[in-house]
Amino acid sequence: MSTLEIRDLHVSVNAGEDSKPILRGVDLTVKSGETHAIMGPNGSGKSTLAYSIAGHPKYTVTSGSVLLDGEDVLAMTVDERARAGLFLAMQYPVEVPGVSVSNFLRTAATAVRGEAPKLRLWVKEVKGAMEELGVDQSFAERNVNEGFSGGEKKRHEILQLELLKPKIAILDETDSGLDIDALKVVSEGVNRARGTGELGTLLITHYTRILRYIRPDFVHVFVGGRIVEEGGAELADELEESGYERFLAAGATS
Ligand code: ADP
Ligand code: MG
Ligand code: MG
Repeated sequence: MSTLEIRDLHVSVNAGEDSKPILRGVDLTVKSGETHAIMGPNGSGKSTLAYSIAGHPKYTVTSGSVLLDGEDVLAMTVDERARAGLFLAMQYPVEVPGVSVSNFLRTAATAVRGEAPKLRLWVKEVKGAMEELGVDQSFAERNVNEGFSGGEKKRHEILQLELLKPKIAILDETDSGLDIDALKVVSEGVNRARGTGELGTLLITHYTRILRYIRPDFVHVFVGGRIVEEGGAELADELEESGYERFLAAGATS
């Protein structure tokens, strides 16, 4: 049982000499087995929240706290955050030239587990995960993100999710650019991982489409760098009907 606790988080983004406040007091608690959706318009700071938790150097936490099972996440290095059980799937995954999927995953697993997985077991593990995801075995020999289609990038993320077994996964617009088949595969992967009851998921999205496949337990509407409304899955249905209009005023006036 794990808990990620975000308390009154304020974050500025470093842009050259300047620093611009983006997050303005975010409070959120995610526990094992729970799926939370953060939904908000473009530019509301959703990715900033994800990057801040991941420890991206461009983002400075000016106040507030992030705790994982009581441990201060913000005091951890990026590696320590991964080892502590945080997983972040980036909205814009980077290419890793010359590193195969297989080696990338083994390095990541070694970092997270604290020791290199035994090679024979590891090969089996990867093979099994790839079969479940419906990925061809040759995928393991491709270089990470090099010439990957949108769907392949997302499958690679889900492969990491299944093999690294994080405590809390933050998926930032994992649905963007996916056709319906890829969206289903990705959703099934997330649902498998959450089905264990051990994973807490923070699903960040602009569109409601993915929430038809991954039903969230909680929905948080994010506007102007903070949460302006919270509810259950029905809130996502309302957003699908009427968009963010009603919430924009709330975000702007405070
Ligand atoms: P969202 O993910 O909700 O679309 P972002 O977190 O990407 O929102 O962006 C929130 C605001 O912060 C935007 O105004 C954006 O321009 C600004 N911002 C985010 N990251 C950077 C960055 N690295 N450099 C400059 N501005 C940034
Ligand atoms: Mg955006
Ligand atoms: Mg974003």
